[in-house]
Amino acid sequence: MTVNVGGVRVGSGAPVVVQSMTNTDTADVQSSVTQIAALARAGSELVRVTVNNEAAAEALPKIKDILMMQGVNVPIIGDFHYNGHLLLKKFPKCAKALAKYRINPGNVSIGKKDDDNFRTMIEVAVENQKPVRIGVNWGSLDQQLLTSMMDENSRLSEPKDARDVTMEAMIVSALRSAELAEKHGLRRDQIILSAKVSGVQDLIDVYRPLAARCDYALHLGLTEAGMGAKGIVASTAALGVLLQEGIGDTIRVSLTPAPNGDRTEEVIVAQQILQSLGIRSFTPQVTACPGCGRTTSTYFQELAENIERYLRENMPIWKTQYAGVEEMKVAVMGCVVNGPGESKHANIGISLPGTFEDPKAPVFVDGRLTVTLKGDHIAEEFMRILEDYVDSHYAKSNSEVAAKA
Ligand code: SF4
Repeated sequence: MTVNVGGVRVGSGAPVVVQSMTNTDTADVQSSVTQIAALARAGSELVRVTVNNEAAAEALPKIKDILMMQGVNVPIIGDFHYNGHLLLKKFPKCAKALAKYRINPGNVSIGKKDDDNFRTMIEVAVENQKPVRIGVNWGSLDQQLLTSMMDENSRLSEPKDARDVTMEAMIVSALRSAELAEKHGLRRDQIILSAKVSGVQDLIDVYRPLAARCDYALHLGLTEAGMGAKGIVASTAALGVLLQEGIGDTIRVSLTPAPNGDRTEEVIVAQQILQSLGIRSFTPQVTACPGCGRTTSTYFQELAENIERYLRENMPIWKTQYAGVEEMKVAVMGCVVNGPGESKHANIGISLPGTFEDPKAPVFVDGRLTVTLKGDHIAEEFMRILEDYVDSHYAKSNSEVAAKA
């Protein structure tokens, strides 16, 4: 199934979509606008915000308007828990401004005597022709469903492990809720499913059968992945396995940022996962050696870091001017051992002099040695060569630029 989320296609043959979520108070319009714009600029193709109270629901249309005025038209997804049925009904402008609603079946009325709250949210979605993500999370799994499945399991002659029953309950919760949403009028191509857990093996064990048992578009992400290296590695390990198997139509990397840290890190990591797997390209890649005792200065590390930053900062503009530049490979190497070889494999590469080597840096373009840089301005000269390469190899024709505008 392919779902249209505010103009962004999710599912089937569409490219895997990168999304993110804000951590501002949605009611704080200015902070939310600033962060959504930053996430969109970093490459987030969908941005989710919590709509947790009336102030947030009231702020949403204003946020959307300001973003549109700034030329940021990234689709915004509303994350609802507990009171979504009330907010969507009371704030029709919010319901309209959002590109998709996320519903957590664990904290709406599913499983209770009636499903009024869930039905209300689906009816608003149908009325506004908005897609919905039915997002199951094991931290808020429908307890009534889980209890009944655990009871049923305990009556078996050979009961399954409690973990397996929990995983199955997540799948059942997602599929039953989707079925109910269809019963209430939503089309199959307006439904995205997710079943998030925080363990790598658990996520793999939930998504494999979920993908096998339905054709809904799937949102993939390790929930509460954690901070820093742990969060990045765990998300990469889990998503890498599933994406490699063709599972997952949109991804989010749920990193916990450091206090006052940069929220856009989760977008960069999500892009990097897809690009490292060869699924999508977002930005030119820098190959840099790890360095060793053969290069004791930090010069090449600094050059690699500067180039990486330069490439990323330029991509928003380059995307509009240069076709295919995101596929470019740049090598920055620390010495003669692997430097020339790795540089030859890149589109453009530089092999810096290691300790005790001649102070010269051969530059390779499309596998051929083109110039050897010397002196105090190697970095600046290499950057200029890089800019010329981009301009001469990827420039779009005027008609391509006009068509994109
Ligand atoms: S290329 Fe040279 S400096 Fe870099 S890791 Fe290899 S041997 Fe060490």
